[in-house]
Amino acid sequence: MQERIVEILVGPTPTFVVAPQPKQDLWDTVLANLDDVAARLKLNPGIHAILRQPERELTVAIPVVLDDGSIKVFTGYRVQHSSARGPCKGGIRYHADVTLNEVRGLATMMTWKCAVVGIPYGGAKGGVTFDPAGLSQNELMRLTRRYTAMILPILGPKRDIPAPDVNTNPQVMAWIADTASMFEGSAMMEIVTGKPLNLGGSQGRPEATGRGVAIVTAELLKRYDRTPVETTVAVQGYGNVGSCAATILNEMGCKIVAVSDVGGGLYNPHGLNIADINKHVAHSPRHLLEGYDAPGVDFITNDELLECETDVLIPAALEHQIRGDNATRIRAKYIVEGANGPTTRDADDILTDRGIVVAPDILANAGGVVVSYLEWVQDLQNFFWEKEEVNRQLTSLMIRSFREVWDCAASYDVPLRLGASMLAVDKVAEAVQSRGIWP
Ligand code: NAD
Repeated sequence: MQERIVEILVGPTPTFVVAPQPKQDLWDTVLANLDDVAARLKLNPGIHAILRQPERELTVAIPVVLDDGSIKVFTGYRVQHSSARGPCKGGIRYHADVTLNEVRGLATMMTWKCAVVGIPYGGAKGGVTFDPAGLSQNELMRLTRRYTAMILPILGPKRDIPAPDVNTNPQVMAWIADTASMFEGSAMMEIVTGKPLNLGGSQGRPEATGRGVAIVTAELLKRYDRTPVETTVAVQGYGNVGSCAATILNEMGCKIVAVSDVGGGLYNPHGLNIADINKHVAHSPRHLLEGYDAPGVDFITNDELLECETDVLIPAALEHQIRGDNATRIRAKYIVEGANGPTTRDADDILTDRGIVVAPDILANAGGVVVSYLEWVQDLQNFFWEKEEVNRQLTSLMIRSFREVWDCAASYDVPLRLGASMLAVDKVAEAVQSRGIWP
């Protein structure tokens, strides 16, 4: 009888969306980096073994009734890598390429990122394997609510606090907060960050990651006696991180010569009109660069963007965009990693050999989690700050973190990526050591 009711309610036969086979790359890269750092730090082998494995992994099936009445079952994940330094923290990604291994890698990087910037969190990440462009807004809401319900047993303001990542935004965070509040029976907005302002979000959160990328770029330039006005920048990925980084760097005086998104890129060696491009993206149906045209602008592919003539390259799309096969052709002098894991290990070696300086992801894109932390603090105290105060704290934390990473790298005589990782792993290992192994 129950089955019949379901059939009448939902119509045609269910279909199933099976997650692709795990992609090894990002998790492999993250583990190889950890092993390298552990050897250099002479890390206690027991603590190394603890850090090589996520504390908790949850894979969930998410059935959704589509608008046409059929059912699709999606696969979702939430991975908590470490809670040694505090509640787990990390974004939720909606993308067709999401795999458990990708989520593991991203969760582990969150642990290092929170440690690098010295905020009291561990690391986590979540993801659902699908292309959001294929769902209506109502379908997206139902998927988000069901995914939230499935992972809710391991979430909580003192346990694990999600945030936005690729293809998720303040609206998705609002649905998560509402679903958790419905289960709780009272408002629990502090279970998620990156919320809309009217639901306990923070001033400055939407542009925080891009602002952090811009601050790190400016600090890096200072170390090489360069000013923003004499600097050209190319940005791959024109979503939340890329567009905000481009806009703020442009305001600082940098000339943005190239930008791109999933549909391709725009190039003008004399500088693109970023304000004009932002207006176009805001009004284009899928918020993409497609259809933009202006005098002096050439259309380029994403590969051409990575290899274009520029001082600074900011990869701000997805992982593993700079690889062994294209690293030799990159012409930028500085790379500031807006995206998580945009550079493979073999590419990293090539860049180092070529003298290209890389500001690594766990430092460069930490502005988002820093303001997420500030949002959580404001939620917990139910008292909210002006944008100037949020930006002041973000700037001061990013500059301090940059200095600590720079100094650590200098003291070990290693590139910035290794310096940042050594600083982070050392802090997490110290927390594990201090807490001891329960029981
Ligand atoms: P987003 O969905 O807002 O934007 C992603 C952008 O990348 C879009 O413009 C998309 O068109 C583009 N893109 C996708 N595939 C591409 C390809 N093959 N080539 C070029 N462009 C492509 O996502 P986001 O939040 O801006 O995240 C971007 C990166 O930054 C991710 O690696 C994410 O993990 C990382 N990150 C995000 C935050 C945050 O606060 N949003 C914080 C830290 C790190």
